[in-house]
Amino acid sequence: MSSEQPPKRPARAVKRAAPSALPAPVTPVTPHVASALAASSPWAYAPAPESKELALIRPRYGLFIDGQERAPASGEVVITYNPATEEPLAEVAKGGAEDADRAISAAERAYRKVWSKLAPRERAKYLYRISRILQERSREFAVTETLDSGKPIRESRDVDVPLAAAHFWYYAGWADKLQYAVPGRRPESHGVVGQVIPWNFPLLMLAWKIAPALAAGNTVVLKPASTTPLTALLFADVCRQADLPPGVVNIITGPGEMGMAIATDPRVAKVAFTGSTSVGIKIAQGIAGHGKALTLELGGKAANIVFEDAALDQAVEGVINGIFFNQGEVCCAGSRLLVQESIAEDFIARLKDRMSTLRVGDPMDKNTDVGAINSRAQMETIGELVASGVTEGANLWQPECVLPDRGWFYKPTLFTNVAQSHRIAREEIFGPVLSTITFRTVDEAIEKANNTAYGLSAGIWTEKGSRILQVAAQLKAGVVWANTFNRFDPTSPFGGYKESGYGREGGLQGLHAYLRSS
Ligand code: NDP
Repeated sequence: MSSEQPPKRPARAVKRAAPSALPAPVTPVTPHVASALAASSPWAYAPAPESKELALIRPRYGLFIDGQERAPASGEVVITYNPATEEPLAEVAKGGAEDADRAISAAERAYRKVWSKLAPRERAKYLYRISRILQERSREFAVTETLDSGKPIRESRDVDVPLAAAHFWYYAGWADKLQYAVPGRRPESHGVVGQVIPWNFPLLMLAWKIAPALAAGNTVVLKPASTTPLTALLFADVCRQADLPPGVVNIITGPGEMGMAIATDPRVAKVAFTGSTSVGIKIAQGIAGHGKALTLELGGKAANIVFEDAALDQAVEGVINGIFFNQGEVCCAGSRLLVQESIAEDFIARLKDRMSTLRVGDPMDKNTDVGAINSRAQMETIGELVASGVTEGANLWQPECVLPDRGWFYKPTLFTNVAQSHRIAREEIFGPVLSTITFRTVDEAIEKANNTAYGLSAGIWTEKGSRILQVAAQLKAGVVWANTFNRFDPTSPFGGYKESGYGREGGLQGLHAYLRSS
């Protein structure tokens, strides 16, 4: 194996560079609102670190092909780092087109000889078993996820891992009831499916993709993101523990081009991708005309709309959760706050007060609200877009908080005086940055909310049920939350309009994506 040096892409390659190389921090231009609960107050929490030892991370990982761990054809490895400390965590195989070919062959064989012949109730048993193992090993998964991705342990423990297990449980229930999923038609699996997942919810995105695929009778080749491969590789171990027949799930790590090699292989009948709109477009172009089924879950620029009659403190919590959950590295993040002009001043003051209490820092601390940004490249993207907001004339505010002296951390950031033409109102920042726009009437709120190239999610805060129904029906977003935000459930479909992609994941609709019906 070669490569003691981190590779050029992914971003980990430059992680060791001095923090001074980052874009200069932008100075707040509006005064800070003091809070009795601010992190620096005498009421600050004592540290409550989770144990790293629970993760059992091995020094080196191979590719998971045909039920076995294999070395990549290149013989090369890449290093995955802890974003909170910039320390290397493990060496991971650098797969390529040759490895994709081997993985697809294994998946095709497993489909033909085993998985497609198995009684549906037997497939269900494997899915239930995987769900149980995920629950049993939940602490190990949560700690591994947090170390590799930078997300707070509270979130990986309470959201990512339980939801991943719930997805396998939910789709296990469908495996022997497929005829009820497509009444009056004959459900059939696609065969081999190729799946490419991102770094913001590594295990959860794996579960969203693998669980319905297996329940519908397909076999899988999955590529995790290069900066967050570890929980996918740990999942390979779960497949072995569950005695899943070899080749039914294959997990191969490698650069983006390998994702394209999987998607374009003629033996892959269905492709599922979650990630940036630009790569989603490339994949759609790459497979166009080949008759493959495709689901794309891409970016977003969601409006979180607060009307003057909303329960304001609850709405503040919802806005905080909407943008600071997972450091804002969430495709459906409520990154545009639309607040009614009559309450804007009061609401912003409350929001600043609440932002002052957010604890930013060690993701392994159970009290941490905002963890580390996943990669140095993502830090740079956030810094560049925030700088553009200042240059274009918006007002920036950040709470006083001390960031750790190493690792990639970004202060929770609030922009006011934002125009719809500003880049921070149009482009996905994928970081803890909230852009505020005001409105006067319901129609204006709807028009501004829909004034985006994306259409993944939206939030409505109001006491009036009739207004929720009126506004939700007019918002061009795949998911609309009312008086809540970022709620996920395996039974509920998720997906977008316009540049947020097409197809749905989750629920019955998510199962349809993995079925052909005649
Ligand atoms: P990408 O879209 O590049 O990465 C997502 C996945 O696609 C990764 O597994 C990546 O592999 C893979 N990939 C990269 N290039 C190709 C390719 N040509 N063909 C097939 N697969 C490919 O996202 P980035 O990591 O570059 O993030 C950039 C921006 O994308 C973020 O700032 C954010 O705005 C958005 N994003 C949206 C997500 C969402 O959930 N909708 C998730 C992640 C990012 P590898 O990691 O090896 O490059």
